[in-house]
Amino acid sequence: MTSTDIAPMEEGPSKGLDQISLLSSDERLKGRPRLCSDCGFCDSSLKLLMSQTCTFVRNQTRGIEQRLHGRTRQAGEEGRFGIYRAMYAARMARPNPNAQWTGMVTALGARLLEQDKVDAVITTAAAPGTRFKAQPILAHTPQEVLATAGNKPCLSPALSLIDAVRDQGIKRLAVVGTGCQVHQLRAAEAELGLERLYVIGIPCSDNVSYTDLEYFLTQVSKSPETVVHHEFMQDFSLWMRHEDGHVERLNYIDFPMDKLHGIFPSSCLSCFDYANTLSDITIGYMGAPLGWQWVMVRTSTGEELFEMLRPELEIGELTESGDRNRGMPRYMERLSHPPGQKRPPMPIRKLVAMLQRTRGPKGLEFARAVIEMKLLRNLNYVRSKFPKFESRVVPDHVYETLAPYAELYEQTFGRPLAR
Ligand code: SF4
Repeated sequence: MTSTDIAPMEEGPSKGLDQISLLSSDERLKGRPRLCSDCGFCDSSLKLLMSQTCTFVRNQTRGIEQRLHGRTRQAGEEGRFGIYRAMYAARMARPNPNAQWTGMVTALGARLLEQDKVDAVITTAAAPGTRFKAQPILAHTPQEVLATAGNKPCLSPALSLIDAVRDQGIKRLAVVGTGCQVHQLRAAEAELGLERLYVIGIPCSDNVSYTDLEYFLTQVSKSPETVVHHEFMQDFSLWMRHEDGHVERLNYIDFPMDKLHGIFPSSCLSCFDYANTLSDITIGYMGAPLGWQWVMVRTSTGEELFEMLRPELEIGELTESGDRNRGMPRYMERLSHPPGQKRPPMPIRKLVAMLQRTRGPKGLEFARAVIEMKLLRNLNYVRSKFPKFESRVVPDHVYETLAPYAELYEQTFGRPLAR
């Protein structure tokens, strides 16, 4: 689920560690390590490398950044967004009506195949008979890639296709993936035997299994079966587009949190890479104005990708306003209370929604706010549920990025922010 929830969405306090692994009814997650995002790597013949490559065993962001960029990220903006060479608001001049946004990701995959830059693209289609159940495919034609347009906000074992890549002798590959998949891919890159790899990253947070996604929609929509697209938008509400074209909106503050805790996997609550910072190019939406896509070009390969698409793009302006720091004390206070509580009364919710919309951070400042809140929430989650994993799973930039809130953190949670 490529979401930007403002409200904390952690699983309930009453669930013990043994129960966490049983939270999902997704068959693929049963029996897996608790911190598993089902990226698919362990379905491949490279699975024995997992202990060296999985972000939930040992986060290797610094080492991978050093290899990709010749340096590691600096505190501040790079702490939140990762290292990038250029940032844009952009959109396809001729948007793909089947895409979540304007179709930049699938257009890029298709152009790579059309221009014979790659032999295949790993991307994620919808399983037959479903709109959102993730089914990774190894696409060999532009048409196959374009047919995968539209977000599938579910855990997807995309890296299970590594064996197909090797069996088919593919040497030039593009991968469209989430942050955890990209970390795994980068850490194992030397073993893949590729001559060329293009990594198109999609931002990601709070993903869920397909079964839990179906449940989520029943809790937030009046007509869950007709939702064709949904996204956590920059106006502090969830937009759900239906088959007949109408858009249903639900303010974040109106989410029935008491009914949602428990649906988010431990992995996504222990994830620190919303912005998919180890990709060549990240294409999302959160930092851009409504209707535009947010693009971060990170490497020389990312520049090549962006230039390939530029003739088909309109370039807009990135804007920002508001002050994210104002919301942090209230967010920390909410985090310090047991999760899963009932919603405040309607008049209060209406007031909060109005204040968020009118006075809340906007544009890039909204993106900074959401990322910082997720870093904070997930740091606390790891500290609460997997304290022995903190030194291996939480990257240094989390502490650096949250350092301006260190005093507030200590006052609120009664312990230092630093490890
Ligand atoms: Fe992977 Fe993180 Fe997305 Fe979960 S939230 S699927 S761990 S990138």
